[in-house]
Amino acid sequence: MISKTPVLIAETEGYICYRRPVMHGVTNCYILLERVENKAAIIDPGGDAAALTEAIKELEAKPEIIINTHGHWDHIGANKALQQHFGLAIAIHKADAPMLKDSAISAARIFAGDGDGGEVKRLLKEGDIIELGALEIEVLHTPGHTPGGICLKCDKMLFTGDTLFNLSIGRTDLAGGDYKALCSSLNRLTSLADDLLVLPGHSQSSTLGYEKTHNPYLRP
Ligand SMILES: [Zn+2]
Ligand SMILES: [Zn+2]
Repeated sequence: MISKTPVLIAETEGYICYRRPVMHGVTNCYILLERVENKAAIIDPGGDAAALTEAIKELEAKPEIIINTHGHWDHIGANKALQQHFGLAIAIHKADAPMLKDSAISAARIFAGDGDGGEVKRLLKEGDIIELGALEIEVLHTPGHTPGGICLKCDKMLFTGDTLFNLSIGRTDLAGGDYKALCSSLNRLTSLADDLLVLPGHSQSSTLGYEKTHNPYLRP
């Protein structure tokens, strides 16, 4: 059963993270809140802009930034509406930024959107740190699913977009997909700590340790 209300994913003294499934529950949008001023980052608002707006208001969050793990339509679909409503910045890897405006490469044509993913404010690259209050969100460039796919590491959380799923990995048959690149990105992820919470763009959460042991694409 798909929850219509945000699901608590992680909570510490410094932050709270919720998952709000969008696009008929298929895509995971994450709302990451720092706890000093309630500043929020919205990670992959793939659709359901009105519902996300409500959720953000109910959490009394002060959203500052949208971060897209990559430029596919099911991850950027509510960018424009949320940007306009809250005056948000949009951050995406520079290699995927063109997808915000090109429905052919964002695959928007197979969805019911206008293909406009809003106005990018910050072009991301490997090693960038996005500050949200006292929180630091580290950008890991993990190409393969798309050229500018990223994972986001924040404390014990690893937002993996469509690079790594619970027991699976992202497809590489869409525009810009590169299986070899994805394999080296996954290989890189295996060097990270086992206790990281894997928060993927679709399906259930996991831990990196579990995936290293059970995910057939990660096993040596
Ligand atoms: Zn994707
Ligand atoms: Zn996706």
